Amino acid sequence: MKYVIVGAGLSGLTIAERIANQLNEEVLIIEKRNHIGGNIYDFYEDGILIQKYGPHIFHTNEKIVYEYLSEFTEWLDYEHHVLSNVDGKLVPMPICIDTLNALYDLDLDEESMKKWIEEHKEDIDEIKSSEDVVLKNAGRDIYNKLFKNYTQKQWGTSAANLDPSVISRIPFRFNHDTRYFEDTYQGMPKEGFTKMCEKMIDNDKIKVVLNTDYKDYLKDIEYDTLIYTGPIDYFYSYKYGELLYRCLNFVYEVLDEDSYQEVGVVNYPNHPYFTRITEFKKLTMQDVEGKTAIMKEYPGFNGELCYPYPTQEYLDKFQQYKKEMDKEENVIFAGRLAQYKYYNMDLVVKNALEIFETQIKKNH
Ligand code: FAD
Ligand code: UDP
Repeated sequence: MKYVIVGAGLSGLTIAERIANQLNEEVLIIEKRNHIGGNIYDFYEDGILIQKYGPHIFHTNEKIVYEYLSEFTEWLDYEHHVLSNVDGKLVPMPICIDTLNALYDLDLDEESMKKWIEEHKEDIDEIKSSEDVVLKNAGRDIYNKLFKNYTQKQWGTSAANLDPSVISRIPFRFNHDTRYFEDTYQGMPKEGFTKMCEKMIDNDKIKVVLNTDYKDYLKDIEYDTLIYTGPIDYFYSYKYGELLYRCLNFVYEVLDEDSYQEVGVVNYPNHPYFTRITEFKKLTMQDVEGKTAIMKEYPGFNGELCYPYPTQEYLDKFQQYKKEMDKEENVIFAGRLAQYKYYNMDLVVKNALEIFETQIKKNH
């Protein structure tokens, strides 16, 4: 076998698809879980499509990524809206004019919102943490109500210890745009993410072995190039110590109700245990009567590996592994766990396509 890929997530599947369809070569994918798709896997229960690893909404400004994935799925037009449950009210996230109006019973417009923010924001010269981002953009009361406890719960540490990039994912807007994402291309795959993934690897040249840790399998086979998309510390048998990945436990239930909440996701910043509730029918626009499925997310350090941990300690430790990664000659690292990067789906695909062009096709 010339190419072996560890991990059947979006990064592994994109590279497998390219190798099989563009190079006409055989590929073996080894996957630990009992399904393909990695964290974007979805499945049906009681006729409702449920995303096993939490709400996933496709959004990108990368035309190339949109066009690539559109080869494997049609899209439902969907623009994501999130409400945050705070002080007994439901207010739009991210922060915009409507958030302040709902939260403080105001009647601001663009000009008066600017004035309000000017009066409430803190003067911070150099943004060093995620906490600084909110204090500088909107001030302490907004931070306390909407960000402080959510972030503490989500990451198990204060936003003061987290890289600014974490909360910078959330924009601050001086308008009435209550959409969660502003990207040019947004949508949900018409038949779900798993179907899209199945179409990506619908080629006899691609073989998938499920329920298998690659370390148990690789020793018995020969290959020229390994593409690794699992956790990087595990690859190097933790030689520089364990990297931290923040985990989530996903708990879903099917309810005998038509509708549970107003929008696809409601955040609960001040609930002691879970961060948010997703109602899948609102994301996928499924027409199922009398039933709906909801999911709560409980963060912790055990469970599904979801996020690389963006504190300086672990970013530094990753650099030790990175030096080893750069020296490898027949191993290519891709994806969120191996590259230890907080990638959205679109950047995972973009990166996988670039890896294919620059490191695989070129050397073929
Ligand atoms: P993964 O999907 O993690 O795939 C890696 C695969 O490797 C897994 O299947 C794993 O089982 C396998 N593996 C690991 N170790 C081994 C081993 N030893 N042997 C064999 N196989 C192994 N992105 C968006 O664009 N929009 C969203 O709305 C969005 N929402 C998200 C919500 C949550 C809760 C999370 C956690 C992420 C979200 N993302 C979202 C990000 C998205 O999930 C990722 O960008 C994408 O799934 C990463 O793909 P990947 O292939 O890099 O990693
Ligand atoms: N966040 C928050 N309150 C919210 C939503 C987000 O404090 O209501 C913070 C939290 O630290 C989170 C980060 O903003 O990790 C980024 O949010 P995003 O929704 O982009 O995270 P995702 O769920 O996509 O990883």
